[in-house]
Amino acid sequence: MSKPCMPITPADTHYETFLNELRQIVGGDAVLTQSDISETYTHDWARDEIGRCLAVVKPSTTQEVSEICILCNRIGVTIIPQGGHTGLVGGAQQKSELGCIVLTTQRMSCIEDIDPDNMTCTVQAGVVLERLQTELEIKDLYFGVSIGSQGSAQIGGLISTNAGGVRVLRYGMMDAQVLGLEVVMADGSIQSSMTGLHKDNRGPDPLRLMIGAEGILGVITRACLRILPRERYSATAWVGCASLEAALDILRYIRKEGYEVLAAFEVMSDSCMPFAALAQEQYQAPLDAPVHILIAFSSSMDLLLDYHLETLLAEVMNKDLASDVIISQSEAHGKHFWAIREGLVEGHAKRGYHVRSDVSVKLSIIPEAASRLETMLAKEFPGWIPQTYGHFGDGNLHFNALPPDTLSEAEARRIGPSIETRIFEIINDLYGSFSAEHGIGRKKIEWFQYSLPERHETLAKIKSVLDSNYTLNPGCLINKTDTK
Ligand SMILES: Cc1cc2nc3c(=O)[nH]c(=O)nc-3n(C[C@H](O)[C@H](O)[C@H](O)COP(=O)(O)OP(=O)(O)OC[C@H]3O[C@@H](n4cnc5c(N)ncnc54)[C@H](O)[C@@H]3O)c2cc1C
Repeated sequence: MSKPCMPITPADTHYETFLNELRQIVGGDAVLTQSDISETYTHDWARDEIGRCLAVVKPSTTQEVSEICILCNRIGVTIIPQGGHTGLVGGAQQKSELGCIVLTTQRMSCIEDIDPDNMTCTVQAGVVLERLQTELEIKDLYFGVSIGSQGSAQIGGLISTNAGGVRVLRYGMMDAQVLGLEVVMADGSIQSSMTGLHKDNRGPDPLRLMIGAEGILGVITRACLRILPRERYSATAWVGCASLEAALDILRYIRKEGYEVLAAFEVMSDSCMPFAALAQEQYQAPLDAPVHILIAFSSSMDLLLDYHLETLLAEVMNKDLASDVIISQSEAHGKHFWAIREGLVEGHAKRGYHVRSDVSVKLSIIPEAASRLETMLAKEFPGWIPQTYGHFGDGNLHFNALPPDTLSEAEARRIGPSIETRIFEIINDLYGSFSAEHGIGRKKIEWFQYSLPERHETLAKIKSVLDSNYTLNPGCLINKTDTK
């Protein structure tokens, strides 16, 4: 079948021929069409957007991904790579089915090798993060990225979005864990930097461009990842304080005194707490305070973490920085603290449509950023409920706005984009980033182009070289019209 001049639709005569060619590559059961395509592939996690596609194709090997790319490139069908579909910026789906397929890596789920000597593991792109964590833990090992969606998010998606999460403070983002990649390029060629070497300066590795590229430059099929000794010891505390300024002072002190063992420093404003309980009733704030902090210490060696955390927090109380402190009494108690923190994201989703943001600023101006955002919401969008929380230790805030109960969903969705614009303007004004973790996807292209025109233009040039037919994830991260 040669390249049709118009994008394929299900009404076209060559649609069935195309599907048969796909079936020959991956097997009949691994191509889904029409009513077989479940919401897993079409509805994003937040249920904000509904995607469409000609087919969902489920390769199980790199070779199959390569053959799919060759076929699609030849006939002009575009490919949307999809992992766990937990991305929050619409990168893994497209609203129109016009000439696109979803390529899901869910069958590429093999943990090929765990090498405790080399401190690396080799995995296929479709391995779910939580499964990798569990397998490593059995072997007394650990992976440095932990995020709320880890029960579904896959390694390929995590690398493609350069995911962050709650351990960035200690271990960095996903890019810090990647030692090598195997990638199928748009033309079907397979490239690899999977040497397993910790040091290799034979020129820069061009495949590292795939990290954070959201599937527009290649399909990640395998990865070699850095692993760590298991953190066998941990101590967790819930701290209450009066303000984000106080939270910043607490971070400064704890970081200075406990840098080597500080693993996480999460902050939540008190207005967030009822929404954690919306996810599960037992997720109640353990104490009363305007600002809540979750602090974790961890180590592979027994360093009396509970003792040190308690001592440092006693000093924090002496300095009048905190109003209350609860140190977890057991592993289960510590896990419950974390469940409250993760529960609030679920609670927001349960409540329904809301404006989500994922911003970062330099640490010292987090309180100012939060204050400006909250003042803006109160003045310009009265009744909307501010939710300030996030990975405070990395300067990363999620400032969400929940619509008032009295507003219909349609009306809230109409107003929401104006709030997003104001958040963007304030953060831009503070020289921050409007996307600290989640990426650009299809939702934030305009701001990306506006705030970082040079980066956008360079990426568009790279795209036009690596994917001249614009086969991979069109409309994500950059617009087709932007390629020169
Ligand atoms: C409850 C919840 C909590 C979250 N918490 C965090 C958090 O703390 N930190 C954070 O950074 N993110 C967070 N996220 C966002 C999301 O989980 C991450 O972006 C995650 O990395 C996406 O992985 P995925 O497998 O679901 O990718 P998908 O959503 O399937 O895809 C994301 C992007 O990557 C591309 N892609 C997927 N697989 C491949 C591949 N193999 N090759 C090339 N491109 C590919 C897609 O085309 C898309 O552009 C959260 C999301 C939810 C729902």
